[in-house]
Amino acid sequence: MDRQGKIKLRKNDTVKVIAGREKGKSGRVVRIDREKMRAVVEGLNMAKKAVKQKKQNQKAGITSVEAPLPLGKLMIVCKKCGPTRIGYEMNGDSKKRVCRKCGGDL
Ligand SMILES: [Zn+2]
Repeated sequence: MDRQGKIKLRKNDTVKVIAGREKGKSGRVVRIDREKMRAVVEGLNMAKKAVKQKKQNQKAGITSVEAPLPLGKLMIVCKKCGPTRIGYEMNGDSKKRVCRKCGGDL
């Protein structure tokens, strides 16, 4: 298996957090870090970050940014059955992602 083969999630997927501080919350994937096996999910796992003033009209201070979550703590959400695992189905020459529970497209 190639290294990227393990990562089934994609940008814009809706995911649910299954472990840790954000357990039970869901959101949309905005970025995937393939090397670190982590994903940034919109509005989840917020971490405080200090911002320096760079321009005159910019405020210095503390802002919140999404910290990446380990992929192992995320499950994709199927529109029909909720959190599920990703399966694959051959669609001609290409693989299609499907829900393992209901077989619907993901
Ligand atoms: Zn489903």
